[in-house]
Amino acid sequence: MQRMTWMAVVVCAAVALGFAAGVGMHAGAAAQQTPGGSPEEGYTDTPVLPESGYHVHDPSRPRPPVIAPGRTAGAPPSDAIVLFDGRDLSQWSAAKLGTASYTQSDDPAPWKVGDGYFEVVPGSGDIATREKFGDVQVHLEWAAPVPVRGRSQNRGNSGLLLMGLYEIQILDNYDNPTYADGTAGAIYGQWPPLVNPLRPAGEWQTYDVVFEAPRFDGDTLVKPAYFTVFINGVVVHNRKASRGPMVWRALAEYTPHPSEGPILLQDHDHPVRFRNIWVRRLGGYDGKPLE
Ligand code: MG
Repeated sequence: MQRMTWMAVVVCAAVALGFAAGVGMHAGAAAQQTPGGSPEEGYTDTPVLPESGYHVHDPSRPRPPVIAPGRTAGAPPSDAIVLFDGRDLSQWSAAKLGTASYTQSDDPAPWKVGDGYFEVVPGSGDIATREKFGDVQVHLEWAAPVPVRGRSQNRGNSGLLLMGLYEIQILDNYDNPTYADGTAGAIYGQWPPLVNPLRPAGEWQTYDVVFEAPRFDGDTLVKPAYFTVFINGVVVHNRKASRGPMVWRALAEYTPHPSEGPILLQDHDHPVRFRNIWVRRLGGYDGKPLE
């Protein structure tokens, strides 16, 4: 009896939903005939969104470009610029990280290429992309050396520097405490990652970074750099402002620089490995540049 009652409720609910859907469809069909547009194409008799200048459901608003995603998580989508595809370092050259500065030469990147990866050659120097970027999405995978050696900052240390200046720390922090703002994923010397989702040394770690370049008007900073970062799929920075280029034991501060710079990887004397590095230039909405 109880069961029958439930059945009845389910049937009644289904009928009611069907009726509601029918009404909805009918209302949609009526809207289709209005002069302001159609559900398929959009509408021009709707309010204007003040942020964009487009009508709500505006048919003339540019459709997002269609791209093909990578087949697996982390694989480059169709519009990515691939910076390392497992074969060679032709997209990279020798560089030198300084204090809130870098230099780059045309010399080949002096690191070792293995089977599908490349590896820091300790003491050989830093490397940087030949192409320069401003606002950018970055995907990078790295692995700390095994066997594990050293402790704190002296274990599997490298760094990912946007524009050659703004560092996200790379460090083997699996079961290896260090100062918080030097942890893997830290905006080095400024903000620790929200959590530490690292895997053990030898396993591949993924970094996905959305970087907004700082903006200058002459000598004046008008917008700081912002980092959004995921490590192994876990958010560790959520559009966090950087207070300036990477420095050590000092307060970072901005000085004006060009709107684009290379992506730099640091030689910190440890044979850290890298693979599958790609980027996408980051634009704004409706085909406009990011503000
Ligand atoms: Mg480092």
